Formats: sequence, structure tokens, C-alpha cells
Amino acid sequence: MNTPADRPFIPLCEPFLGGNEWAYVKDCLDTGWVSSVGKYVDQFEERFASYLGSPHAVAAVNGTSALHIALLVAGIKPGDEVLVSTLTFIAPVNAIRYAGAWPVLMDASPTDWQMDPEKAASFLETQCERHDGVLRNRTTGRPVRAILPVHILGHCVDMAPIAALAKKHGLILIEDASESLGASYDGRKIGTLGDIACFSFNGNKLLTTGGGGMITTRNPEWAAHAKHLTTQAKSSRGEFIHDEIGYNYRLTNMAAAMGCAQLEAIEHHLVRKREIAARYIDAFADVPNVQPPTLHPKCNSSWWMFTIRLDPTQGPPAREVGDALRRQNIDTRPLWQPMHRSPAHSASQSWKCEHADAIYAEALSLPCSVGLTSERQDDVAGALRAQLAGHG
Ligand SMILES: *Cc1c(COP(=O)(O)O)cnc(C)c1O
Repeated sequence: MNTPADRPFIPLCEPFLGGNEWAYVKDCLDTGWVSSVGKYVDQFEERFASYLGSPHAVAAVNGTSALHIALLVAGIKPGDEVLVSTLTFIAPVNAIRYAGAWPVLMDASPTDWQMDPEKAASFLETQCERHDGVLRNRTTGRPVRAILPVHILGHCVDMAPIAALAKKHGLILIEDASESLGASYDGRKIGTLGDIACFSFNGNKLLTTGGGGMITTRNPEWAAHAKHLTTQAKSSRGEFIHDEIGYNYRLTNMAAAMGCAQLEAIEHHLVRKREIAARYIDAFADVPNVQPPTLHPKCNSSWWMFTIRLDPTQGPPAREVGDALRRQNIDTRPLWQPMHRSPAHSASQSWKCEHADAIYAEALSLPCSVGLTSERQDDVAGALRAQLAGHG
């Protein structure tokens, strides 16, 4: 068995760059097309749209900016409210504030850890009322315009009841699909289930371009507007004339070149992520205090970030176990502080957040890089088991 001293550092989730990344990036360097224009940007958008089965895809410099633009093209205005998951990486909640709108933070389900559709329903039905065609939050008086479920960890939000709520209450449905590229719900790919969706190609995501993002939508006007807004809203070809305040949110051709190569390997990445998850689940099957989320039966997860809950009544707390593993060269990570606890969003309303705190306290993400070998993975599983048995 490995001892910490001879174990090489096992990272949490490192990029897998085993395909045409070098060749395509070299092509950019060889031809001089390194910046914000070039064939790879168009190719990446077209191929991403085609992979997803979405009519339009617009590249952006990162997932956070993609979310910001998605909110703007969906017509979210300052003072509007958007229902969003409290248990999420902070990006979508920040993006709501960039648009001048306000998040209303929704609890996570204790079963699958995703936005709980019943809580969203109870908020809309007991806390809001419709006047002159506008749905208003009775507490703040603000109009409620959209719902933004965040698919976390590669899994899926239970979208059927969320879509039904959006329809019933006239809300725009915006998916944050950053963590769940490749997952599907009821046979449909995550990122095609709402009015507009966003993806991220940050270093640890399923596909990476170093940094990057994508907006997908069926709405051709929204897609054209998204392209316009991400490219400084320049309205004429030869002249510098801008018809509204735009943003420099372009993805570079070099990043897009990486994206094209990464997309060619997506099926391989997904197979590996799912194999890794299955192997961990098998390894912990007889350890009662290790609990992966129970996924919705309609969810075919990508298992992007393998994360378990450790029941503190049956063993050491997750933070302690995570620290101990890191001391043994095994990288681990806690989940994000729920947004209703975040000092950054203390001015925002939350609704009956009863489960997110416990999931946050008990969760631990384990190494799950696409390139993780079975041998290394078994070593991680063994070290975790030893830690839980009290002899790490
Ligand atoms: C990664 C991520 C994003 C986008 O992050 P960027 O670093 O801006 O690409 C957005 N939402 C969630 C839930 C994420 O995990």
C-alpha cells in the first residue's frame, strides 16, 4: 500500500489534453489568428450547437460572462427578481446582480442536492401575487421574471416540475449547465431544457479551453443579440459605431481551437467520468456513512465532480477527513458555502433554506480527473476508508 511519502500528488480534477489541442493551437500560432476572430470560434460554436442539439451557440470568454449575457438577452432588467439555487458556485448569483436584478435563493433537495422544485413552487404560490399581468414578490414588491436552476456536479435538476412552474407563472427558464455538460434529463441534453442555457470551459470542467463559456438557445434573436453584446455591440463594419453598451466578452480563437479539440473527445471524457463514479460507488457500497446523492430517475448524470456526503453521526466530519486526505497528497474539496450564507449576497432574500447547510457541511469531492487510473483511484478509496475506520 502507498504511504503518503511515496504517493504522488493526486489532483482533484485536472484537464485531459490528449487529442488535437496542440495541433489546433499551433495552427492559430502558425497563421497568426490568435485573437478574437478566426475559424475556430465559428467552428466551436457550430460543433457545440450540433453536439447539444441546440440551434444556436454563442461563445463567451467564460461561463460567468455567458450567464450575464444570457440574463440581458432574456430581458432581465434592474430590479427584477430571479429564483436561483442557493447551493451553487457563486457565478450565476453574481451574474444576476451584474444585470441589476436580485436573486431569490432556493433550497437544495436533500435527495439529489439540486434546486428543490417543491420549494420553488411554494415560494411562487404563497409569496407572490399577480397584478396587471406582473408577478410580484409580496415581501420586496419586485417583479419575479425568471428561474435559474443550476445543475450541480454533473447531475440534473428535476426539470419537469421547474418547466411547468415557469410556464404557469410566465417565467423565463435559464439553465446554468456549466457543471453538467453531457448529462441528460428524460433523454434530453442538459442545456436544451429551458429558454437559454450557459456553459463553462474553465480548467476543471468536463471540457476546458483554459477559460471559456457558451450560451445556447433556440431563439435566433436572442442568439444574435448575445453575439452583439459579447462583441462590444459594434453596429457597423468599417466604423466604430456602437448601438448600445456592449461587453468585451469574446472567446479567443486559440481558446476556441482548444475547445474544438476537447469537443472531439467528449464521449471519452464522459465514459471515464461515469466509470470513475461507478468504481467509487462500488468501493464505498459497504460503508454506510458514505453517501453519494440519489439522482432523479430521469437524470443520466455526467458525474463531472464525484462528491459524497459523510454522515457525521457515523464517523469523522467531512472537513476533518478532507484535511487528512490532503495531508496524504490526495486532493479533496468541500462544496460552496450556500449563497444564503454568503456575505456577498447577504442583501438577497432566501426561501426556506433547510437542507443546503447540511449538504455543505457534510460534502466532500474526491479526485475524479478524466485521466485518473484505476490504480490511483483504488488508492484514494482505500485511504478514505482507512480514514473513516479511524486509522488514516
Ligand atoms: C464553473 C461554473 C460557472 C462559470 O464559471 P467560469 O469560471 O466563469 O467559467 C458558472 N456556474 C457554475 C455552477 C459553475 O460551476
